[in-house]
Amino acid sequence: AKEMGGNNFQFYTAAMNARLLERLSIEKDLRNAIEREEFVLHYQPQVDIRTGRIVGMEALIRWQHPTLGMVLPHRFIGLAEETGLIGVIGAWVLHTACAQTKSWERAGYGQLRVAVNLSARQFTQKDLVQSIANILAETGLAPHFLELELTESLLMNDVEAAIEILQGLRALHVQMSIDDFGTGYSSLAYLRRFPIDVLKIDRSFVRDMTLDSDDAVIVKSVISLAHNLKLRVVAEGVETQEQLMHLRILECDVMQGYFFSNPVPAETFGQILREGKCL
Ligand code: C2E
Ligand code: CA
Ligand code: CA
Ligand code: CA
Repeated sequence: AKEMGGNNFQFYTAAMNARLLERLSIEKDLRNAIEREEFVLHYQPQVDIRTGRIVGMEALIRWQHPTLGMVLPHRFIGLAEETGLIGVIGAWVLHTACAQTKSWERAGYGQLRVAVNLSARQFTQKDLVQSIANILAETGLAPHFLELELTESLLMNDVEAAIEILQGLRALHVQMSIDDFGTGYSSLAYLRRFPIDVLKIDRSFVRDMTLDSDDAVIVKSVISLAHNLKLRVVAEGVETQEQLMHLRILECDVMQGYFFSNPVPAETFGQILREGKCL
């Protein structure tokens, strides 16, 4: 038994070493990814539930790794946070998303709002407000067409600090949204104090709302809470017609999900806009 334990231990360290090596190698690649232009943004349409028309999109980062292929954000955003690389990557995301949105506006596709995810470390960066102001000036995008998605846990981590940062952003006239709403634990009392514009209902509630009456009640309550606070509501992860109809009855404002479209490259998104696809 002792011998086996020893072997297990060796096996364990070998596996750990392999993971550590993979991590180090990904970290090294991540450092070069920006200058090698390996990041791309995909865009997922956000659709007005009443009119059926595209009103905006969420920008989602992908990494086209030379050997690993398309790497999704959950595999590298955490590492980018830990290493501080999120600063450069996040600025690239903001700049690219704003420039792309402005160019769709120039092409005559209407006035679309772009939602960009901010990570915790990016949110508390000292020059956040200034750097967003610079990006808006450089790209010419009007501030109210940029929506920043922040998670509950990021905001609840230090409420007073968060309110101060949000007020700085509010002064720029960008829009702010609470992402994955309902999964973290936010206090309703604080919700009132955050200067925000949008609640984004987490897809876990949307997924189960047509199966589980508790989830249906939660979605219904979040929508009426949001409307009472004069906030828009976006439902994410809408995959079926049934979910959509349910959300329409509950007077949800905007939907996003595979039912309408996956996240797609900018070129494909441009094509969707040209075709004038509707719900
Ligand atoms: P998120 O902000 O909650 O983004 C929504 C995720 O749900 C995306 O995954 C999207 O592809 C996926 N999704 C969209 N519609 C559906 C649907 O109908 N069903 C299901 N099951 N999934 C759907 P993705 O692109 O892999 O992104 C994962 C997470 O990575 C995002 O979650 C966000 O937290 C983070 N992320 C993505 N891009 C960025 C970025 O530029 N910066 C930062 N800091 N984080 C990012
Ligand atoms: Ca998001
Ligand atoms: Ca989300
Ligand atoms: Ca989510």
